[in-house]
Amino acid sequence: DTALVWLRRDLRLDDHAAFYHALKSSRAVIPVFIFDTDILDALPDRADRRVEFIRESLDALKLELEAHGSSLITRYGRACELIPQLAHALNAQAVFCNRDYEPAAIARDAEVAEQLSQNGRVLRAFKDQVIFDTDEVLTQAGKPFGVFTPYKNAWLKKLSPFYLMPYPVSRYLERLAPMPPQPLPSLDSMGFSRTNLDALGIQAGSAGAQRLFEDFIGRMGRYKAARDYPALEGSSCLSVHLRFGTVSTRQLVTTADGSGGEGAQTWLSELIWREFYQQVLWHHPRVAAGHSYKPEFDVIAWPNPAGHFAAWCEARTGYPLVDAAMRQLNQTGTMHNRLRMVAASFLVKDLHVDWRLGERYFADRLIDFDLAANNGGWQWAASTGCDAQPWFRIFNPITQSEKFDAEGKFIKRYLPELAALPARYIHTPWLLSEDLQHAYGVTIGRDYPVPIVDHAAARALTLALYKAAGKNR
Ligand code: FAD
Repeated sequence: DTALVWLRRDLRLDDHAAFYHALKSSRAVIPVFIFDTDILDALPDRADRRVEFIRESLDALKLELEAHGSSLITRYGRACELIPQLAHALNAQAVFCNRDYEPAAIARDAEVAEQLSQNGRVLRAFKDQVIFDTDEVLTQAGKPFGVFTPYKNAWLKKLSPFYLMPYPVSRYLERLAPMPPQPLPSLDSMGFSRTNLDALGIQAGSAGAQRLFEDFIGRMGRYKAARDYPALEGSSCLSVHLRFGTVSTRQLVTTADGSGGEGAQTWLSELIWREFYQQVLWHHPRVAAGHSYKPEFDVIAWPNPAGHFAAWCEARTGYPLVDAAMRQLNQTGTMHNRLRMVAASFLVKDLHVDWRLGERYFADRLIDFDLAANNGGWQWAASTGCDAQPWFRIFNPITQSEKFDAEGKFIKRYLPELAALPARYIHTPWLLSEDLQHAYGVTIGRDYPVPIVDHAAARALTLALYKAAGKNR
């Protein structure tokens, strides 16, 4: 009697719910991973850091499994067909996996469960990637939370050591099915090419996650003070590992919860934000289908002025912090959290482009792309989401720049054409006189664009758009 462990966004062996339950069930456990063409075929680019990150993480996991006399079976094709076929071929009565809350994953899992059941097999799914899921944290009236702070308070109140207990997978590893090392498809064979992942210093797999976490533990106390400044190394950079499950959420929460101090508490709050958006998506899957969380804002007719979206994507808005942020995204597949807020707000409230276009652009490029967090972040920035911020609070891209990159260190890293500018001009290079432009060796309009919009005028139009949406309700 064998069991499959079907890995998806949980590419590790330690503290892993599905592995634990499968191994405990005393069967010969066979780990499998499917490079799912339903997902891969939809990717816009054949050089995708995420595909490379997954492959490298699997390579590391396979070696770990091989050290225990087992291996990892990987296939390329449609998961909803291949998993039932593998279960049949390998005579597995049960397939164990960790729960995924995205609508497409829920539909896929339902299809697999249905196929398996036709032959008397079962799909068993476990909570793993969050501390609390589905209906575990609700309001007193039994409704899902729509505002973060009360959700966070209820989440913290419910937290107890029970929920943080690691799954002791290592005790049962002798129950892994013995097998010779299995091949892992190359990127090439799947039609993908390598990216600059190595050059960026992004190490995949559990080892990569643990290295980052150890480094961050030393800085956690300073997190609250440093996290908003993109030129500083303030945050953990663990989002890609949380996305692909190369680190256990329980491990991170245990450390944050156990360390006193404001830094650790603020960081814990961010981990709770992650769960908050996961439960929003679970309870309101329509947000992933292009709908505003607050339906009254669906009536906004976004002007999408010609050229605005392209200028934003190509870092040609003339607002240095926004352009530096977009270059960071385009060159590295990451973007600092403060900059995600600034760039998203700028697209929607300064350029009047539909937030869904920005959401898609981020989704295609972010290495840590997560449907729940990205949608939540965009709806937050567009004021269509579930937060307490009123829509008339609009980020000013200049004061954001002055506040969070005062000396322009981050800007200059990504906009070398502005490297000679002193701090007082770095946020508003269009204010340089011709003489000063000459002195600093930069011609605005040639070396760097003039601003695409005037913030005050853009702000006024945004207020009118949102106000009209409110009236049309
Ligand atoms: P840290 O500051 O070290 O935080 C620790 C972890 O908490 C993160 O790794 C992440 O898993 C979680 N987290 C932190 N902030 C948030 C948040 N606001 N919402 C949800 N989870 C959070 N995060 C993603 O993981 N994937 C996305 O696709 C994504 N898209 C975003 C889009 C927009 C418009 C905005 C404003 C935010 C988005 N975020 C997204 C949230 C946040 O920007 C990133 O999680 C963060 O920048 C990752 O860096 P870090 O790992 O160093 O985070």
